Amino acid sequence: MKGLAQNFQLTLPYILRRADQLYGYREIVTRRPDKSFHRYTYADFVSRSKKLAVALKKLGVESGDRVGTLGWNTYQHLEAYFGVPCSGAVLHTLNPRLHEDDLTFIADHAGDKVMLVDETLVSVWEKFRDRVGVEHAIVVTESGEAPEGMISYEELLADADESDFEYPDFDENQAAAMCYTSGTTGRPKGALYSHRSTVLHSMMAAMGNTFSLTESDCVLPVVPMFHVNAWGLPYASVLVGAKLMMPGPHLDPASMLEDFEEEAVTFTAGVPTVFLAVLQALDAEPEKYDLSKMHSMIIGGSAVPKGVIKAYGERHGINVVHAWGMTEMSPIGTVSTLNSEIEKLSEEEQLDYKAKQGYPVPLVEIRARGEEGFAAWDGESLGELEVRGPWVASSYYEAPEGDDKFTDDGWFKTGDIVTIDKYGFIKITDRSKDLIKSGGEWISSVELENALMAHPAVAQAAVIAIPHEKWDERPLAAIVLKEGESATEEDLHGHLEKDFAKFWLPDAYEFVESIPMTATGKFQKLKLREQFEGYTPAQS
Ligand code: ADP
Repeated sequence: MKGLAQNFQLTLPYILRRADQLYGYREIVTRRPDKSFHRYTYADFVSRSKKLAVALKKLGVESGDRVGTLGWNTYQHLEAYFGVPCSGAVLHTLNPRLHEDDLTFIADHAGDKVMLVDETLVSVWEKFRDRVGVEHAIVVTESGEAPEGMISYEELLADADESDFEYPDFDENQAAAMCYTSGTTGRPKGALYSHRSTVLHSMMAAMGNTFSLTESDCVLPVVPMFHVNAWGLPYASVLVGAKLMMPGPHLDPASMLEDFEEEAVTFTAGVPTVFLAVLQALDAEPEKYDLSKMHSMIIGGSAVPKGVIKAYGERHGINVVHAWGMTEMSPIGTVSTLNSEIEKLSEEEQLDYKAKQGYPVPLVEIRARGEEGFAAWDGESLGELEVRGPWVASSYYEAPEGDDKFTDDGWFKTGDIVTIDKYGFIKITDRSKDLIKSGGEWISSVELENALMAHPAVAQAAVIAIPHEKWDERPLAAIVLKEGESATEEDLHGHLEKDFAKFWLPDAYEFVESIPMTATGKFQKLKLREQFEGYTPAQS
């Protein structure tokens, strides 16, 4: 027997319409590139998002076409977050920190038809514009002046008539947004979110045991809007009508602390690197800022040290919540909010739980595949974490080479090695993917190794992550030189420089006699990491 509830489609036009009807008075604040504040209301935001949808159609953008963005966290980017999917097109956020070869590949593979470029990122766009088939490049600037070959965003909106916008009724399974993830080897792969997955993810994000977001919140997403939809915060915030404080390109501790205090921010989220710097600034002048309004600071993307959670709580009264997620899962998977059983434990024990990556949010299921079947939920047995749920990818966008990440029974293999305890809390102990995470951005060890081994003097090169206080992890290259050949650290650095973004370049090159190998001839990274335990590169 079929239920008789309405078959209401879960789409972003619904969230926009809700904002239109209910939250017109709510504020959205942005730090401009010159640090001044731009302020407007949800009513302005809705109106301009509609105009963007109309303008894109006028440019010839059709349903399913991809519209790329290169932008920071700004009100205009928020307009694209809604205007693009509400026109029926697919929002494709690109990470401006990537090397131009990767940006070229990503824009090309996605088939971006239009590119919206923040005025501060035009130089990034210029590095690859001639290599991609984008038809219209739009510069997002308030001054209205567009560089040669680009359309001014403000002029585009000025020419669009809001009354031409009609809330579309489309299938909730239609694609809404996409984001590329870095591969260990090979090229980045695209996760393609649907309207339905985005709406469900937003509802879950706002729930009490996840982020507890309500209309009375002021949300400052530190996590960039080009990293998995800023962890879904723009969509979740607009769904509940929260005030938004967009930091623009200003992620230095002083600007953020000012924003926190002046705009009475109640909720913020980002990677450990950023919040470590904020902690240092707070510790230096503990009385300077009033952060009493903040109820949660979500830290994820890399593991948060227990000491950081403790320091924020004890010294500044701020509740740090640890979270884990992935581009392939929109991204929220687990959140470390405590349950009532854990709250009965001692403070130190509670802290141990807070430092784990948390337990699965509603509608996400987890399991850990060990060597002999699925690992018991005993907090000790190890296995690779697998996940499933309505916002977890079912495959990559036109990348069959990534099919082995999905199990036959429909789970996604995360590549994270974890334990799961009796409360479902995961603890990440290692990564099976050969990637290094520096300041929230990925570096592929395999790509660096291949490039190093292409150097005429290098016989073998293995790149590993070494822990770094500020950046979480940094690459170290262990090099075996060919007999009779010589190369210096500077030679190798120079060799890599031309092909990789600056932050990819290893902090150190260690010349070694040999690299530990497995029986099957692979580098034994675990052994190598042990060998370099406690290592601090001279120049970092
Ligand atoms: P994100 O934007 O969240 O960094 P990515 O897809 O780029 O998303 O990275 C996901 C990976 O980052 C995870 O598979 C895991 O290896 C790592 N990661 C994310 N959150 C955490 C965390 N809280 N602790 C440890 N590692 C994490």
